[in-house]
Amino acid sequence: MPFKHNVYDRAVYREPAPIPDREDPFQAMVERFDVAAEILELDPGFYEYLARPARIHETAVPVRMDDERLRVFEGYRVIHNDVLGPSKGGVRYAPDVTLNEVKALAAWMTWKCAVVGVPFGGAKGGVVCDPQSMSPDELERLTRRYTANLIDVFGPDSDIPAPDMNTNEQIMAWVLDTYSMHARRTVNAVVTGKPVNLGGSLGRREATGRGVMVSTLCALDLLDLSPTDCTVAVQGFGNVGSIAAKLLSEQGCRVVAVSDITGGYYNGDGLNIQEAIDYVEANDGTLDGYPNAQSITNEELLTLDVDVLIPAAKEDQITQPIAEDVQARIIAEGANGPTTPSADPILQDKGVLVIPDILANAGGVTVSYFEWVQNRQGYFWTEERVTQRLDRIMQEAFDNVHETADRHDVSLRIGAYVMAVRKVAEALQMRGIYA
Ligand code: NAD
Repeated sequence: MPFKHNVYDRAVYREPAPIPDREDPFQAMVERFDVAAEILELDPGFYEYLARPARIHETAVPVRMDDERLRVFEGYRVIHNDVLGPSKGGVRYAPDVTLNEVKALAAWMTWKCAVVGVPFGGAKGGVVCDPQSMSPDELERLTRRYTANLIDVFGPDSDIPAPDMNTNEQIMAWVLDTYSMHARRTVNAVVTGKPVNLGGSLGRREATGRGVMVSTLCALDLLDLSPTDCTVAVQGFGNVGSIAAKLLSEQGCRVVAVSDITGGYYNGDGLNIQEAIDYVEANDGTLDGYPNAQSITNEELLTLDVDVLIPAAKEDQITQPIAEDVQARIIAEGANGPTTPSADPILQDKGVLVIPDILANAGGVTVSYFEWVQNRQGYFWTEERVTQRLDRIMQEAFDNVHETADRHDVSLRIGAYVMAVRKVAEALQMRGIYA
């Protein structure tokens, strides 16, 4: 089955060494939520309700390995909130997945959907496993059993999974198939980020990077900077980072540095991003040995003298000491939670404009919503229609967040939280509490 294995091979994600000073991601979410709740003078009961997940599912996932051993993996699905609609969020496979991380990611999904006005709540899933060391067949069995264990949780009207780190279109196809076998009919709206020929949306693969590009252009405009005069550094060269780098270079920006798990690559004259993408495709999914650049460390990349820095790898990258040395004027958070709460005030004091994750990377869930709409209509859109609507939603969301931040005299991050928490709290108020 060459197709199955090729799809798997391309998207494999390499987990970096553990981050020594990793902050608790759920606490990182709560700290920003607290500031927004105070500004909104949120009722204490509503605070309690919105700060914590609505439901947490923990499940043991038994998998028969290729060598006949039975292994049991820890699986999670956290529904943070479903006041605005069915919950939505990716599933992450990684050895260092924790319940706290999944809880944080689920909450970020709630706020993200509210920021872009998508009628979904927030959820996230994860399985503690090392996909690097597993065969495609083992990953298929893991995915099918995880889906079967959560069959009463998932559903097009209740909870809709999507890809995240180490999960891709092929894995979503297995989720779709497993769910559909139980339902005795094909239910393609149960999952997004699936292959286009199984009902996926054109433009979904590029959507998150495209949203990062659009929100970066909005920020440049705000600072009266022209893309053609700007330099960019991108941490992480997977789905989000490579597409954001490519689209920004098409807008005239000079992308001088990119990095992945194998290190950083710098060229002051500007990197040829399409060439780097082709190199990764041909080089087992990494930039290792990329020739037309000088090697730099991850830390050097994050503190380069550039106009725009795009962290697009994972959480907790811009820590307090890194923030002290950041030279960029704009940070566009492609990754979820790349900046720790302790770094926020430092960046703000330095006047760095941070486009927060719940705005900058919301293009992915926006096109996931388009995918779900197309599946339910049974009518598919052109790529042009997808990108036009995505661009409009991202621009409007940026303007709304900026306006809210201005009104309360806070950062764009707190502005985004204020906007999102208010929207969800108002919906909760109108729905009322079921007895
Ligand atoms: P991916 O697996 O496609 O790519 C991740 C990239 O980061 C890889 O190039 C990897 O080598 C690199 N990387 C990992 N650790 C690194 C490190 N310590 N230093 C430098 N590079 C490192 O993942 P992705 O889908 O691009 O997701 C990246 C981030 O964006 C995650 O935080 C994810 O939650 C977030 N995100 C993704 C989407 C989406 O649609 N894919 C949507 C919203 C948010």
